[in-house]
Amino acid sequence: MTAASETAQAAVARDPGHAGNAVGGIVVQREQGQRQVFCGLAGIVWLHRKIQDAFFLVVGSRTCAHLLQSAAGVMIFAEPRFATAVLGDRDLAGLADCNEELDRVVTELLARRPDIGTLFLVASCPSEVIKLDLDNAAARLSREQQGRVRVLAYSGSGLDTTFTQGEDTCLTALVPELPEAPADTDSLLVLGTLPDVVEDQFRRLFDALGIPSLYFLPPRRASELPPVGPGTRLLAAQPFVGGTAAALVDRGATLLEAPYPFGIEGTRAWFEAAADAFGIGVARVEAVTAAAATRAARGLERYRAQLAGKRISFLPDSQLEIPLARFLQRECGMELVEVGVPYLDRRMLGAELDWLPSDLRLTEGQDVERQLDRLRADRPDLTVCGLGLANPLEAEGLTTKWSIELVFSPVHGFDQAADLAELFVRPLNRRERLAF
Ligand code: SF4
Repeated sequence: MTAASETAQAAVARDPGHAGNAVGGIVVQREQGQRQVFCGLAGIVWLHRKIQDAFFLVVGSRTCAHLLQSAAGVMIFAEPRFATAVLGDRDLAGLADCNEELDRVVTELLARRPDIGTLFLVASCPSEVIKLDLDNAAARLSREQQGRVRVLAYSGSGLDTTFTQGEDTCLTALVPELPEAPADTDSLLVLGTLPDVVEDQFRRLFDALGIPSLYFLPPRRASELPPVGPGTRLLAAQPFVGGTAAALVDRGATLLEAPYPFGIEGTRAWFEAAADAFGIGVARVEAVTAAAATRAARGLERYRAQLAGKRISFLPDSQLEIPLARFLQRECGMELVEVGVPYLDRRMLGAELDWLPSDLRLTEGQDVERQLDRLRADRPDLTVCGLGLANPLEAEGLTTKWSIELVFSPVHGFDQAADLAELFVRPLNRRERLAF
């Protein structure tokens, strides 16, 4: 640890605003103050690509429309499956007008787009939208569609959700729609959006292991929702779907405790947890995953050489910070200076915390100015942060990585382990090139 980071560590420890409590031997410092993270609307960017027969209608303001366009602009190469219903001032004069306007927008949309099977109404922040009961509106519109289109509502508002939490609220809205699995059927349900290419790789490995029945939530089509029941073993692929996991547990599923499939070690342990739930031993997992793990180790080698010994800080943003920090430290040899998370879901992250060093500076929540002060004192080699902070930090000579890229890119599993490491090598190389 350098003198600068010792100073910042001491500042966290001394600060009376930081109530600390320990999880898995690590003292978690809580921060409350101004936050700088995306709202949950950002989830639409990857959800609309995954669920191909769904449409996302944000009921919001021009700010929401702008955020979606700029966050998603680079991602669109097909007809977009999202839009923003900006309710004008006239509509906001009374709730009755508001509901009428919403009904009009939805009716027009569904008439124009007969391919929509599931329509999500996504709530946002403006106070007029908060007053609207979107759950009721969704039920009313669903009835009007007489089963032709399923209309559901969830919140992507910056008041209730951070960046990746919008996926959790969306999937939670789907849970009551899932069919009941027959009581005597055992199945594995993988929870959290995965790019199709990763889903296919995982499916091949689970098949080779002999898992009897495998489903993914979200599925590629909302018309093909997976069944859930007491025989369902739930394996999370993303750490930010805790609300959905709880809703599935309420429907009888059993949540498996496992780290996340990032890097070789995490991916192997993830498969082991699934296999164990079906009475399949470690030797079988080893045999099935050996070739992929060997390929991954070869691919990782050269990136490890570039990352080892480098110091990294995570600002709270994507909720992937803890598993990524674990991968970078244990498999790439990086030194963790500070790991910040928007919120710490202990049930979803228990297995990951066991793998982190007990003296880790782990912060939950955000007080952005204080965090930036610590960052300036630490001056890590690499800072993972949101888009809004990256440019100013680069201007101060810090090297940054946009956390949003880590959510958009295929980074799970053995075959993506080297690509994941490379995402952290790239900004370091760029900074080096700029230095000459
Ligand atoms: S939901 Fe709220 S935070 Fe998100 S873009 Fe709209 S107004 Fe901004």
